[in-house]
Amino acid sequence: HILPITLSKNHYDVIIGSDILQQCGTLILPLLKQKKVFILADQTVADLHLDKLIHSLDLVHVNYEVILLPPGEKTKSFQYYEKVTQTLLEKGVERNSTILAFGGGVTGDLAGFSAATVLRGVPFIQIPTTLLSQVDSSVGGKTGINTSVGKNLLGAFYQPEAVLADTKILDTLPQRELQAGYAEIVKAGLINDPELFKWCEKNGKKIISKEHACLAKAIEMACQFKARVIQNDEYEQQSTGRNLLNLGHSLGHTLEAELGYDGRLLHGEAVALGCCLIFKLCTQMGICPEKDTQRVIHHFESVNLPVTIKRLPQPIRASNLLNHLKHDKKSQNNKITFILVNGIGKAFTSQDVSEKQLYNLLIEDGCIQD
Ligand code: NAD
Ligand code: ZN
Repeated sequence: HILPITLSKNHYDVIIGSDILQQCGTLILPLLKQKKVFILADQTVADLHLDKLIHSLDLVHVNYEVILLPPGEKTKSFQYYEKVTQTLLEKGVERNSTILAFGGGVTGDLAGFSAATVLRGVPFIQIPTTLLSQVDSSVGGKTGINTSVGKNLLGAFYQPEAVLADTKILDTLPQRELQAGYAEIVKAGLINDPELFKWCEKNGKKIISKEHACLAKAIEMACQFKARVIQNDEYEQQSTGRNLLNLGHSLGHTLEAELGYDGRLLHGEAVALGCCLIFKLCTQMGICPEKDTQRVIHHFESVNLPVTIKRLPQPIRASNLLNHLKHDKKSQNNKITFILVNGIGKAFTSQDVSEKQLYNLLIEDGCIQD
């Protein structure tokens, strides 16, 4: 499947298919300005799949250099940004070279930001290898790294030349990572695509058991959804646009920050829990039917995603979460901006949640009082 994305200045295709990695060389050749690519690869992904990528490049006589990156969120840092850009320059990267990001969202974000800034911009191609990066981070042009002040606070909007999503590459992805990525697909449905959510209710189990045809369909629908949103609001300037993609993310990020990026709570798991909390909050506020909230909780539970703070591996203090939320980059004029819901597929932006309402919800959901 080919999904075209048309933005104000760029146009690119998301190419989805099983085992397209072995045709990568042929697929990207028409996009290259020079037969020279720099592959920035997650070490784990490289161990498993780099041979195939390199073989496909050899077939069309494309030269390559490989830069390996240690897996994990810590790599999306100043330190690795410096290492990567320095190495690219030392290895002779030119304006006409192309950077290939070969890994999950961490690799894509770091490689994209490096591509955006080295020599003031070198073309890059995304080959996302996690479900999360195939349905979310590789499409849309948000690139960046983390800082000690917070996640993703340094970055650029920089669109790729193409995105190649190979469903077969997901065969080696750990089950928990797959489930976490799936949470972002469900989130898309919850925002404004109730049909997608219905489809998820019917096919969720097949997706987490990695049925290829189903996975391809899910990736296609989620990318279509994301394309619609970013085509209307490329630079996140409207409250009804890209911003809505953050459903469940403010709370999700604070939970991630509390449990510390060491694998105890994956990003997608935090998003699933964050979405459940928003639905519970909105039902309490009287703006979302209880039955919608129950459906959402039931669905996330059925695919082994967390739905309540009670079951997290560590007790969480409500006041810690609130403090994090207030420092979130989305807080403006001391008010926390939330994406709320009037039901499944009915998300909107609001600054009308009081601290008291939030605190009560967190306590009710299992946080410790102080
Ligand atoms: P990740 O890149 O850390 O990958 C998760 C783990 O899976 C890593 O250990 C990696 O080595 C391993 N892995 C990757 N592909 C594999 C494969 N095919 N087989 C076996 N193992 C594999 O995590 P992620 O979930 O892909 O991405 C998370 C990052 O994405 C976060 O930093 C988040 O901020 C970012 N993100 C960015 C955007 C955006 O718009 N740019 C959107 C959402 C998330
Ligand atoms: Zn996310």
